[in-house]
Amino acid sequence: MPALKYPSLLNPRCLIDGQWRDADSALTFDVTNPANGTVLAQVPAAGSAETERAITAAERALTTWRKLPAPDRAAKLRRWHDLMLTHLEDLASLLTAEQGKPLSDARAEVRYAASFVDWYAEEARRIYGDVIPAPSGDRRILALKEPVGVCGAITPWNFPYAMVTRKVAPALAAGCTMVLKPAEQTPLSALALGVLALEAGIPDGVFNIVTGDPAIIGKTLTDSPVVRKISFTGSTEVGRLLMRQSATTLKKLSLELGGNAPFIVFDDADIDEAVAGLMQAKFRNAGQACIAANRIYVQRGVYEAFSKRLCETVARLRVSAGTDEGADIGPLIDGSAVEKVEAHLEDALAHGAKLLCGGKRHALGGTFFEPTVIADATENMVLARDETFGPLAPLFPFDRDDDAIAAANAVEYGLGAYLYSRDQRRIWRAIDALETGMVGVNSGMISTAVAPFGGIKQSGLGREGSRYGIEEYLVLKYVCLGGLAA
Ligand code: NAP
Repeated sequence: MPALKYPSLLNPRCLIDGQWRDADSALTFDVTNPANGTVLAQVPAAGSAETERAITAAERALTTWRKLPAPDRAAKLRRWHDLMLTHLEDLASLLTAEQGKPLSDARAEVRYAASFVDWYAEEARRIYGDVIPAPSGDRRILALKEPVGVCGAITPWNFPYAMVTRKVAPALAAGCTMVLKPAEQTPLSALALGVLALEAGIPDGVFNIVTGDPAIIGKTLTDSPVVRKISFTGSTEVGRLLMRQSATTLKKLSLELGGNAPFIVFDDADIDEAVAGLMQAKFRNAGQACIAANRIYVQRGVYEAFSKRLCETVARLRVSAGTDEGADIGPLIDGSAVEKVEAHLEDALAHGAKLLCGGKRHALGGTFFEPTVIADATENMVLARDETFGPLAPLFPFDRDDDAIAAANAVEYGLGAYLYSRDQRRIWRAIDALETGMVGVNSGMISTAVAPFGGIKQSGLGREGSRYGIEEYLVLKYVCLGGLAA
């Protein structure tokens, strides 16, 4: 475990009603460092009873939290944000220890996660409703915005801070309370956020964290009539399950699910910029991002030049433990993540792809994998349909613009897409035709708290970040004021 300047941030217990608790059974599960397999901590294996208690606490806390004036809620969120930045180095160390990403990326994630808290501290003051022109003079019609109520959130391991604050900050800003279940592989980051939330003065029961069996905790959240909203980030398969489970209690849902992002390089693109953009879109977090470029379509006229430049750049990537300053790519999260990359690579090579660089487990062993580029990928390969979630970049050559767009859209997902070109008409034709919730144009880095993040098709429902993100935690109350005739 890394030595922390503020050791209280490592708190491997559940946060329920402002108290730090073990599981009723006293059972725990191990949290390990993916860089070397060492056990970092034991975290409570909580289940239904603990989740029920967290829901009850959130229900009780809701009564006062929703009535707290917006500037007061904003002030507490602001303090939480400030504390995250005060403890940035420790938070980054915890993240690198349990998730593996390089420390520089971990620091960037802490800043990114804090930026959601900052943004929603401001949005808390701007939850406006409407006054609507009435159809008769004796009435006034108002649309008021109210918090949806107690929320449940389930988050993944790839961005363990940002995926939490992207949900919790807008929920709390809106006046909702929250029960969070973080990913089993990265609970320590979420629990550290809980420590800082309490220190920021967020009242007991407003933000609860339960670690443990995902299916049991998920079912308890979805079955509860008290929980009015579920916000989930993770795989499409689990998203569908949570949607089915939420049907009986008709919950409001936000589902940020899988992606399979196309990255299109047209022949008039600036090749250096396109390669730099792809390095961010493909290799950040070792490719373990829902908006990671998964299919790289390169127009025939620049295919050779682009492949050559890309391989030269990829060869300079430093694969190393995230704690080594200068590391670009850390370990993958676990053995099955490595096996998935290998399976996609093997299938592609069997179907005629050509290996340009990388292609095997890294000499460091464990879950380290060489950043890999393959050429001549085709639509009949598994990686054309399924997200690889690892450092494998397949290049698909194309001739006509329409062919690239048709291939880009020919998947069940619709989260992110990227394109590189200098021709505005071409750019707008592509933007209009792409079936995704987000498009990066001449930019490989699109995530920011100020923009609406989310997908269409099987990539989910709802948006996170921006002014739209807070709407997910609000419901409208229409008020008709009658009897006002002069
Ligand atoms: P996952 O298996 O769906 O896990 C995500 C979360 O769901 C974890 O907390 C997991 O708990 C929990 N979970 C698993 N089974 C559950 C169940 N039966 N009921 C309730 N919760 C359950 O996804 P992952 O493999 O960790 O994450 C990668 C996926 O997330 C990729 O598909 C990626 O594209 C997607 N993702 C999407 C976005 C976005 O914004 N659209 C962002 C990041 C990632 P345990 O950890 O305890 O198993």
